[in-house]
Amino acid sequence: MAVALRYAARSDVGLIRKNNQDSGYAGPHLLVVADGMGGAAGGDVASSVVVSHLAPLDDDAPTGDLLTRLKEAVYAAHDELVDRVAEDPSLAGLGTTVIALLRSGNRFAMIHIGDSRAYVVRDGQMFQVTTDHTFVQHLVDTGQLTPEQAEHHPQRSVLLRVLGDNSSDIVLDEWAHEARIGDRWLLCSDGLSGVVSAETIAHVLGGTPDVGECAESLVALALHGGGPDNVTCIVADVVDLDVLPDGAGPALEPQVVGAAAADRLRPTRGGAGAAGRAAALAAPAAPVTVEPAASVPGSPGAGVDADDGDRPGGRTRRVIAWLVGVVVVLGALTAAGALAYRWTQEQYYVGIDDGYVAIFRGIPQELGTTPLSSVHERTEIAVDDLPAFARQRLEDTITASSLEEAEAVVALLEEEVAPPPTPAPTPEPTATPAPAPTASIGAAPAPGAASGDGA
Ligand code: CA
Repeated sequence: MAVALRYAARSDVGLIRKNNQDSGYAGPHLLVVADGMGGAAGGDVASSVVVSHLAPLDDDAPTGDLLTRLKEAVYAAHDELVDRVAEDPSLAGLGTTVIALLRSGNRFAMIHIGDSRAYVVRDGQMFQVTTDHTFVQHLVDTGQLTPEQAEHHPQRSVLLRVLGDNSSDIVLDEWAHEARIGDRWLLCSDGLSGVVSAETIAHVLGGTPDVGECAESLVALALHGGGPDNVTCIVADVVDLDVLPDGAGPALEPQVVGAAAADRLRPTRGGAGAAGRAAALAAPAAPVTVEPAASVPGSPGAGVDADDGDRPGGRTRRVIAWLVGVVVVLGALTAAGALAYRWTQEQYYVGIDDGYVAIFRGIPQELGTTPLSSVHERTEIAVDDLPAFARQRLEDTITASSLEEAEAVVALLEEEVAPPPTPAPTPEPTATPAPAPTASIGAAPAPGAASGDGA
């Protein structure tokens, strides 16, 4: 069965910011949301450039490897952004997220970088398809924050990965998905997902059949929630081609919203078909001149304001973008350091403390002058009472992967202590030979060796 997309794109500047740095594109084969950042016109440029590079993929029948085509377009956009910053230092620090789906028949390829999201509603249930490339998501992934804590974390919008002015390699998340009839997709910027709860989004997606109304309701909810950020939503239903009106009609015209709409598409609107529009979008990009437009909060697709690089929000965004690199490094070091330290504190070893066998917690090393271990328990076993080989092993320390293992080692050492010199009064010639545990000293005892419940 031939499938098609029925889609709507809406974008709004929000109630606080003065210009819309989001861009969105929805066409018969391509859905894109890009959330730009950077002061002055940087964010507008970044998100528009991404859309201009991706839009040409929305031709009548995308062929070849969809993922490769998506990735090549994104890399080209990245290169253009880097070039633009080199030419115009005022754009330094610009960046953008990208979430894009390219469809061929009933196949979707998807790429993602940043914190814009894709959700899919299938069989009445909504799933978040993407994982945010944010610092707090990293903390959640590594068990240092709960998802609930992350939702309200003050640094929740600090991104670890974006496209744009940074020299690090671009690492994209990529997937292939089935375009299944009945599925409803939502692509959105964090101006929606950071403001409106997932439950509410799911409720609206499930309860608003018309894609346009649905996208408008979602935007309205973000504004109702304070509209602190630009908000962009693309709602797309995967439908049977036959249910679309003959000749496709307006439903199949590409829709471009946000900064990209203010930028380059406008002159070509109402012109040739999708391919022509796409080509126009991809035309060599002149420096973006953002035209002043009446911004009516609450009206989907509201225009873009004039340059306002000095607005506090813009500066914050720029600083945040600039800080991304620093945060990546610090975050990685801090997180890695914290994880590494936590790991060391879950380790045990047996060694010598002041002449006695002791169980240490940590690892027998130092970080600078800080020891990474401490005495957990000092035993009564004097090292001098032990055979030479056991003393040697203790001096080298005997590692254990748990406290139980360390205690098992101690138990074995106890048996190694030379017996008191008093002779046994009545040696029994038929006595059972004592077990010979020495072979185990130093080797990693079997887990649970000391638990006593092995039998
Ligand atoms: Ca945003």
